Amino acid sequence: MGKRKGGNNEDNNDKKRSKGEREEDSPGMFTCGEEGCDFESKWKCAVKRHKAAIHDIDVTYYLCSVDGCDFKAKTASTLKTHRAAIHDIDVTYYLCSVDGCVFKAKQASSLKTHKAFVHDVDVTYYLCRVDGCEYKAKKASSLKRHKASVHGIHVV
Ligand SMILES: [Zn+2]
Ligand SMILES: [Zn+2]
Ligand SMILES: [Zn+2]
Ligand SMILES: [Zn+2]
Repeated sequence: MGKRKGGNNEDNNDKKRSKGEREEDSPGMFTCGEEGCDFESKWKCAVKRHKAAIHDIDVTYYLCSVDGCDFKAKTASTLKTHRAAIHDIDVTYYLCSVDGCVFKAKQASSLKTHKAFVHDVDVTYYLCRVDGCEYKAKKASSLKRHKASVHGIHVV
């Protein structure tokens, strides 16, 4: 019987409750809200990240600062790759380690190809595999030619 009704408190609560907010089944869960997507999370920032990655909404883009280029990327590393490949900015070069060689490549695979052909380093050989034949080639096309001329095998 000694319960206080506290009329003042109720007034305050009413003012704090914003009437625009929807009451969902599971309060405290943030949902994506995009059509056909049922992503939900307890964290508002996770939903923001999800929307940026999946739906291109509210994306923080990394813009290419080069004049006339309107490239934009979702990650810093994508932008770096773009700038290196297109504008030669901030390029991480792969240098040929052979004495006296000044070759450099933007991609590890290009350097590997260079080393194989010019210096015979790390060569991936194509082997003939015909009984008794020890022929090996650096190029698939050379092996094909060899097989045709020496063994009469024509590979399409
Ligand atoms: Zn979604
Ligand atoms: Zn650019
Ligand atoms: Zn080299
Ligand atoms: Zn052979």
